[in-house]
Amino acid sequence: MRILITGGAGFLGSHLCDRFLAEGHEVIVLDNLITGRLENISHHFGHPRFQFIKHDVTNYIHVPGPVDAVLHFASPASPKDFTAIPIPILKVNSLGTHNALGLALAKKARFLLASTSEVYGDPQVHPQPESYWGHVNPIGERGVYDESKRFAEALTMAYHRIHKLDTRIVRIFNTYGPRMRLDDGRVIPNYIGQALRGQPLTVYGDGSQTRSFCYVSDEIEGFCRLLFSDEVYPVNIGSTDEITVLELAEMVNRITGNKAGIVFKPLPQDDPKVRRPDITRARTILGWEPKVSLEEGLERTIAWFREQLS
Ligand code: UDP
Repeated sequence: MRILITGGAGFLGSHLCDRFLAEGHEVIVLDNLITGRLENISHHFGHPRFQFIKHDVTNYIHVPGPVDAVLHFASPASPKDFTAIPIPILKVNSLGTHNALGLALAKKARFLLASTSEVYGDPQVHPQPESYWGHVNPIGERGVYDESKRFAEALTMAYHRIHKLDTRIVRIFNTYGPRMRLDDGRVIPNYIGQALRGQPLTVYGDGSQTRSFCYVSDEIEGFCRLLFSDEVYPVNIGSTDEITVLELAEMVNRITGNKAGIVFKPLPQDDPKVRRPDITRARTILGWEPKVSLEEGLERTIAWFREQLS
C-alpha cells in the first residue's frame, strides 16, 4: 500500500513509519515540523519506499500518484502546546482534517483519524467507553485541543456518511515511549528528564489525579489493527492500568534511583481528575489489548532518554 501520514515526523507518526516500511508498504510523510522532528525519521532518508514532504496540512494538500490510506496524525498534543500554540492546534484539527479528508476522498483512500481521550474532557463516567459524550469546557485552555478533535471526529463521520469515505477513528489515551521530546511538557518526559538530572519531580496539584499509560509499541499495534478492520465508529486504544501521577513519580524515582524526591506545583486548568479507557470494543472487535507493563515500558523509555542525554 501507499500510505500517507500527516504528522509522520512526530512521536506516534514516526513509529507508524517504521512499522509500515518494515511491512513493505510505501510511506509518504507530511509534516511542518512544528512539534515533529526530522531526527525521528532521518534513519529512513534515502529509503526507496520513503518520502518526506515538509508541508503544513492546514494548507491544501497536493500529492501526485495514488494513495491507499491517509493517516491524520498531525497535531501538537501536549497540554504545554495548548497554551503556547493554541491557534495552530485549532487549525490543524479543523482545516487540516478537512484537507486530509479531501485528499483521501480524491484518492479513494481509507482514512484514519488520530483522535484522543481528550474528547471525554474531565470525565464524569469512569472508565470511559466510546459511547460517553464527554465533559469538556469549550472556552478553557484545553478546549482548543478537545473541541478541535471533537470537530475532527464530526467531520470524519460526515465524510463517511455523505461521501461514503472509508473512515476509522482511534481515540488515543496517554501513550509514552522513545521519541517523546524531553521538553514536551507531558508527565513522563518531564519526570524522566528531571530524574536523570537528579532534580525533584514536579507533581501537579496533590498528585491524586489518575492516568493510564500505554507503551508506544502496543498503541501502534492497536492503530494497525483498527486501520485494517472494518470498524467505522471510534475505538479507544490505551492501557487500563490506572495510577495516580504521584505514584508514577515514586515509580520513576525508584527505577532511576533518583534521590531528589518530589515537589508539588499548581494543577493546570481543567486537568482531568481521572482517565482510564474502557477497551471492551478494542478487545472484541480488534482482539487487541496492551502487553507491555508500565514498569517494563518505563525501563525502556528511561534507557532511551538516558542515551539522548549522554
Ligand atoms: N503532570 C504532573 N507533572 C508534570 C507534568 C504533568 O504532575 O511535570 C500531571 C498533569 O497535571 C496531569 C498528568 O500529569 O494530571 C498528565 O499530564 P500530561 O501533560 O502528561 O497529559 P494529559 O494526560 O493531562 O493530557
